Amino acid sequence: MKIDISSIKSKIERQRENVFAAIRRLRREDPFSTTDRSLIVEPATDAAALSGHEQVVVLENKLKHDLLEIERVLAKIKEGTYGTCGNCKKKIDDGRLAVKPVSIYCVSCEKKMEKTRK
Ligand SMILES: [Zn+2]
Repeated sequence: MKIDISSIKSKIERQRENVFAAIRRLRREDPFSTTDRSLIVEPATDAAALSGHEQVVVLENKLKHDLLEIERVLAKIKEGTYGTCGNCKKKIDDGRLAVKPVSIYCVSCEKKMEKTRK
């Protein structure tokens, strides 16, 4: 299977729009979004609001991570290195790119990195 960079690029750009929209939505839903997060939480703060806020933070961090991946892939497309592993420079399997277009490492490098992260 041949990968089509321009269709992947538009797919990833759409994905980026979705992530941006999700972050904006999250911020609106965050019960603490209108208050300064550096402020110490008052003891009277509603526990439900607090756990809601924590969920938002976790989700937002995940979305930011996705965004970072997307930006890295878009940069690689621009450079013309899309589809090559950012670590060992080998070609990333087309099947892998079809399943996960934001892959910037080959399967074996990603596995190695997951191990070192743990
Ligand atoms: Zn690799």
